[in-house]
Amino acid sequence: MTISSSIVPTRPPLGCAAVMMEVLRGELREHELPFTHQREAIARVLFESTQHLSADEVETELLDRDHQIGKATVYRTLALLVELGLATEHDFDEGFRRYQMTVGAAQYDHMICTVCGEVAQFREEALESVLESIVRSTGFEPITRQIKIFGTCRDCT
Ligand SMILES: [Zn+2]
Repeated sequence: MTISSSIVPTRPPLGCAAVMMEVLRGELREHELPFTHQREAIARVLFESTQHLSADEVETELLDRDHQIGKATVYRTLALLVELGLATEHDFDEGFRRYQMTVGAAQYDHMICTVCGEVAQFREEALESVLESIVRSTGFEPITRQIKIFGTCRDCT
């Protein structure tokens, strides 16, 4: 195995958010749900934060970013992110729930058809252990990862 490296101008939380947005896009497509501007904005707030955010805090952050999104939509979208496995819900006995991006949610790999846009998700344990040993040998602390294979699906070949 050879590893070559170069420095790219990326800040880890934002890089991670970008990966998570791609995962969300794929999940929504898989469930035949639209990737709306509102869903995108709400998910972005959560994915760019390292905190456990309440729906109120998400709404405040959205207003700071000039997005006027009703609380019902914020709640529904946060619940959807939990359902898709991209966010985790916490109850700290405050009378409301808090949400956090699920670290490791991107640990599914995807095959993307460049003709029809189908996104197939897969997970292979043998691949997991190879990747883990590569990462461990370098002392790197992984947050999340994603492998994307672009090509044509069986129907489009
Ligand atoms: Zn296809």
